[in-house]
Amino acid sequence: MKKLLVSAAILLVATPCFCWGFYSHRKINYYACFLLPPEMLVFYRRHIDFISEHAVDPDKRRYLVPAEGPRHYIDIDHYGQYPFDSLPRDWKQAVEKYSEDTLARYGIVPWWIQVMLARLTSAFKEKSHTKILKLSAEIGHYISDAHVPLHTSSNHNGQFTNQQGIHGFWESRIPELLAETEWDFFIGKAAYVSNPLKFTWARVLESAAAADSVLRFEKELNDRFPGDLKFSMEERNGQLIRQYAAAYTKQYNRLLNNMVERRMRQSIFAVASFWYSAWVNAGQPDLKTLIHPGFSDEDLKEWERLNQQWKDGDRCETDRHLK
Ligand SMILES: [Zn+2]
Repeated sequence: MKKLLVSAAILLVATPCFCWGFYSHRKINYYACFLLPPEMLVFYRRHIDFISEHAVDPDKRRYLVPAEGPRHYIDIDHYGQYPFDSLPRDWKQAVEKYSEDTLARYGIVPWWIQVMLARLTSAFKEKSHTKILKLSAEIGHYISDAHVPLHTSSNHNGQFTNQQGIHGFWESRIPELLAETEWDFFIGKAAYVSNPLKFTWARVLESAAAADSVLRFEKELNDRFPGDLKFSMEERNGQLIRQYAAAYTKQYNRLLNNMVERRMRQSIFAVASFWYSAWVNAGQPDLKTLIHPGFSDEDLKEWERLNQQWKDGDRCETDRHLK
């Protein structure tokens, strides 16, 4: 009986839990800072902890704000076949053709990035220390999400192909296992993006084109990999959890030909380039002289609420709203 209870307890904590994609978001914002020109680096470097830590606020906000979810993805396969020409790239034309409700239902990430870019540009014009920090951290999140193939597919967690968990496998497990030891994030310099909407759509279409490989390679590997070796038990934050085994993860990464590293590097470049473009478009304000007024009570309360909701939420759910 005692034995039975012990194994039941292990099983309880052994439920797959692949939904913490926070690691990569923080890393992307962190590394993006180093691509900036010296006039910006001086500011971003000073606040690199904030910019990295608050990269994950948009995911936490999903628990608080219902409209937040669709800002992180686009189920572009809803609109036909690659390259999805029937879907206007321009927001107004897309609304006219499909209605705002439909667009919201299938995700709006390419357009939401443009909204955030406009806000960040205004923040630079206003020389608002707080807004520049918050918006830089958050736009980094949405840009990175647009680089994830499964953020452009309705089969976002392999739920239609019996591959549940693949979402976190791709965006969390692989980078957490390999980024520190095997990947290189020396990327060069940020570039001015003259047409941000076009740039964004190019990344989204790349993601959409890659989604099929992300799913297919895992299926193939799963079919030939010994089933009892696919997962392993690992300790995480003092809890024993079932995780994709290291050998399985590395083989999948090889099949993907380092796709995750490539997309992370592209995300870093894109995030830095959008920050840089907002600053240029705002007239290159002098960031050296910006004084940090401290965060308002309102800001502090919002972060507290985000954290609380996130902690209270079912963080292991892998439904549409938790990508
Ligand atoms: Zn997200």
